[in-house]
Amino acid sequence: MFDVDGTLTPAKQKIVASFAKQFAEWSIDKEVYLVSGGSFIRILEQVTPALLDNMAAVYACMGNVCYKKKKDEPRAWVRSHERSFEPPSGLTDALDIVARDSEYTEKSPPHWEARSGMINFSVIGQNATQAHREEYGAYDELHQEREIIVKKLRPMFPEIDFVIGGAVSLDIFEKGRDKSQVIREHFKDLPKDVILHFVGDRVEFPGNDYAIAQSVKERPNGHVHSVKSWKDTSVLLKSI
Ligand SMILES: [Mg+2]
Repeated sequence: MFDVDGTLTPAKQKIVASFAKQFAEWSIDKEVYLVSGGSFIRILEQVTPALLDNMAAVYACMGNVCYKKKKDEPRAWVRSHERSFEPPSGLTDALDIVARDSEYTEKSPPHWEARSGMINFSVIGQNATQAHREEYGAYDELHQEREIIVKKLRPMFPEIDFVIGGAVSLDIFEKGRDKSQVIREHFKDLPKDVILHFVGDRVEFPGNDYAIAQSVKERPNGHVHSVKSWKDTSVLLKSI
């Protein structure tokens, strides 16, 4: 199981062609899944069709929606399940206030986007250019703004979880509706002797791979690999 942003691709960007080829060849004799915070449409834009050819399923939007291949139709996908999310009263207003009050000045609203089962939020906004995204990424690294926002919002909305995902954003959803739901609901009957590897770039708390990493570690044959970029993943594939 692989996270996408920061693990197979640079965040929100296309996969590097040579790595896509390596991944596609590596996956031929394995059962491979993608588990991303991003939407399915965006994942399709980020990776190559060949990379998806051996994919057993794609879990998008933190596992709140799952896509599987159509039978006998190569490269056609069908949605196999989807959850909805009704934000609690005051949440979207609170997000707008947090964005407004940020000392980072370059902003391209809207600041949040509703996805299947979740909301994606960023101070810089959904329409930020790649250059501004990189600039904010550096700002956040220095000021830990996203961690501060998470600490502020968690007590205000106890039934909601806030995690750091991608390079500039937060993923927001009902508690438990994080990537760990994939293991809990779709792999609960997986035999104990099956070896399960999860590869992600945000496995530390409060990253958006933390919960699934914990669930994978609880399995007798579960292995979690923390990477810093697709380059680490490329090296790792040679040993799995
Ligand atoms: Mg990631």
